[in-house]
Amino acid sequence: MPGDFVGTTEEFTPGSGTYSSGGDIHSIVSGNVVIDKKKRIVSVVPSTSTPPVVKEGDIVVGEVTNVRDSVVLVSLAGIKGVGEREFQDPGMAAIHVSNVKQEYVKDLSREFAVADIVKAKVLNIQNMRLDTSQKSFGVMKANCSVCRTGLIRDNNKLKCPACGNVETRKISSDYGTGII
Ligand code: ZN
Repeated sequence: MPGDFVGTTEEFTPGSGTYSSGGDIHSIVSGNVVIDKKKRIVSVVPSTSTPPVVKEGDIVVGEVTNVRDSVVLVSLAGIKGVGEREFQDPGMAAIHVSNVKQEYVKDLSREFAVADIVKAKVLNIQNMRLDTSQKSFGVMKANCSVCRTGLIRDNNKLKCPACGNVETRKISSDYGTGII
C-alpha cells in the first residue's frame, strides 16, 4: 500500500513504485513488492486486481431484465476490451426509448424482451444510460417467447427454427455472432 515500508537504502536501490526517505524505502502504489536480488533493487509493481469501472463511451453487454413503457432495464455482464475480467458492477443500466434506434420507437416490447442479450454503448454513467442506435448495437441473442429456442435472424426479423414463431427486435448487425 502507498507509504508502506519495503526496505532500506542500505539493502536496496529504490526502484519503480517506491521512494526513499531518510534511508527507508516506501511504496508509492498499491501492489506487490518485487526484489531484484542481483541488482539489489526493490520495486513495487502496481496491482492490477482493481476491477475496471464502466466509463462513458464503453461498449457493454448485458441481459434485459425488464421492459417498461419508456425504458428497458439491463443487467450488465461485461465491458468490451476487458476480456473475462470482473468489473465493478454499476448496478442496473437503462436504455431509454429515445436511444433505441434512429427511427421513432412506438412500442419497446417490439424492440426488446426479457432475457435478451444486448450490446450497447454507455451514454452517461451518472444514471447509467445506454444507447443502441448504431447498427452494431442492439439484441445479440434472443429466445423464442413461445418455446424458448434460440431465434435465428431472418432479414430484419427473428425466426424460431423450432416452432416457426416470428419476432421483432432492435437487432444488432452482429446478431448471433457472439462478437462484442
Ligand atoms: Zn419457438
